[in-house]
Amino acid sequence: MREQMDIGRRGLLTGSFLTREGRDSIERRQKPLGPPPPWHHEVMEACGSCEQECVASCPQGIIRIHPDDHALAGRPCLDFSATGCTICGDCAKACPSIESYSRESARIGDLEVARETCLAWNDVFCMSCIGKCDARALIMDERRRPVLDDSLCTGCGMCIHACPVNALAIRFD
Ligand code: SF4
Ligand code: SF4
Ligand code: SF4
Repeated sequence: MREQMDIGRRGLLTGSFLTREGRDSIERRQKPLGPPPPWHHEVMEACGSCEQECVASCPQGIIRIHPDDHALAGRPCLDFSATGCTICGDCAKACPSIESYSRESARIGDLEVARETCLAWNDVFCMSCIGKCDARALIMDERRRPVLDDSLCTGCGMCIHACPVNALAIRFD
């Protein structure tokens, strides 16, 4: 009887790790929901104990806070699903832990173009992302496929929502 109870308990405890849903749920709660605002990388440890004034400060409305059941609960991230970051600096001004920042040094992450998903890389005409980049970091190659000039991209995310097939994402540390 005792042995049966132990097996049952073990099953319950390990069940969430063994099922696909369980693993997906755990992964969702570990993985950042987006990159941090441009100058928050170095002050993230302090986030969560502040008043989170960066959220209301953002004129673009793209700063979210990781929910309570997430490993990064209370810390901010950027949501590029509707628009991107203008690197305006308002979130840095609102943060009590950021002492100084410069617009020139702002870098959110690196844009990645998923070539297997991108229409243009699969011989379907599309230029939706190109015009969204004021930095001119996205250019067309000779076969009208988008390629990135890493040295110009700030990771602002302005191009992401323009893509009809979700081929663009920001990679960040
Ligand atoms: S720099 Fe400006 S637009 Fe970008 S996240 Fe901060 S407040 Fe929002
Ligand atoms: S390519 Fe880079 S700089 Fe240009 S819009 Fe996209 S994320 Fe911003
Ligand atoms: S908008 Fe998307 S599908 Fe179109 S060229 Fe850009 S990355 Fe490719």
